[in-house]
Amino acid sequence: MGTNPYGWLDKSLTALHRAHRYRSVQPIDGMAGAMVQRQGQTLVNFASNDYLGLASDSRLAAAAIAAIQTYGTGSTGSRLLSGHRQLHRELEVAIAALKGTDDAIVFSSGYLANLGAIAALVGNPDLVLGDEYNHSSLRSGSRVSGATALDYRHGDMAHLKELLEIHRDRHRRCLIATDSVFSMDGDLCPLPDILDLAAAYDAMVLVDEAHGTGVLGARGSGAVEHLGCAGRPLIAVGTLSKALGSLGGYVAGSAALTDFLRNRAPGWIYTTGLSPADTAAALAAVHVVRQEPQRRQALWSNATIFRQQLDRILASAKAASLQLRRLPSESPIICLEGPSAEAIVAASQRLQEMGLWVAAVRPPTVPTSRLRITLMATHQRPHLEQLLVGLEEILAL
Ligand SMILES: *Cc1c(COP(=O)(O)O)cnc(C)c1O
Repeated sequence: MGTNPYGWLDKSLTALHRAHRYRSVQPIDGMAGAMVQRQGQTLVNFASNDYLGLASDSRLAAAAIAAIQTYGTGSTGSRLLSGHRQLHRELEVAIAALKGTDDAIVFSSGYLANLGAIAALVGNPDLVLGDEYNHSSLRSGSRVSGATALDYRHGDMAHLKELLEIHRDRHRRCLIATDSVFSMDGDLCPLPDILDLAAAYDAMVLVDEAHGTGVLGARGSGAVEHLGCAGRPLIAVGTLSKALGSLGGYVAGSAALTDFLRNRAPGWIYTTGLSPADTAAALAAVHVVRQEPQRRQALWSNATIFRQQLDRILASAKAASLQLRRLPSESPIICLEGPSAEAIVAASQRLQEMGLWVAAVRPPTVPTSRLRITLMATHQRPHLEQLLVGLEEILAL
């Protein structure tokens, strides 16, 4: 009848543009780092997850190159067939040592680790309770698993308890899933309370340490360590792609857990093993995390100083036409919530003109639009000062 079954795509895109929700990619030229080149412009980078600056570390690069020369570029098959190298095992042992768990299993990405683990651990007769601000991969995993998936209000333990009270008995297994550091807010989950509730209601706990590993804890093990929960029974998931500067994900926990996943997680079994280069780079990064606590200290001192200075600026800009509110943060992720997607995009654009790269994060990724600033160990004081000056300027507009 001459109708176009793909016509809705253009309509959808037009609607995204109109709502200021349209997104596109922008290439970085050359090396990742605290300063980057983008389309000829030099920018101070406040938009990366490379917290420790390891993505451009020569030791990781050397390890990756050596692995390519030894094993080739691809791992050529799934881990259970031709895709397993001793290097994978070394990385898993190193992650388990960093996490203080029996064992670990590496996946192709953090996203896949969450999807694969959740879908393997729970199914139709089961219940998943997740924080409403959980990362997309936790939400997708819950949906794909076929379990009954319910959200509790952000960090609200009374609500979590209420849901457990009402629903727990009607289900076989129960999994409580949460980000440890909330990726788009920067606050931490109340892990000790979650673990207590889980113990009381016979529930498993999966905690996503994507932004915790290498960043939090005296040893850099993550938020589990930082919050005093090391050694308590839980399932730790994370990524090799943020503070560890490589690519891939992992699940760390008991030997029974990792053994089970090797046998029962389609997202691990039916996909090609991590590339030798990514594996070797991540392994080198885990060693750096353990041996160079000064990187973490530099990151934390940047975050503390920046938050203090930022609050000072916000306090003296109470009457500014653009109202920005700093969200509570206990991490190097610092967010400024604004009145609308349009205002936040304009602010990010203005900062970019001043040589500052700060991401504008909008719905549907987050409930409210915000500037999302991520700090790095390799930011120097003048970088932070430049951003503070930039923010003062947009507040004064
Ligand atoms: C980035 C992120 C992931 C996904 O990790 P990738 O390795 O990038 O796929 C999972 N969970 C959270 C909380 C994240 O921020």
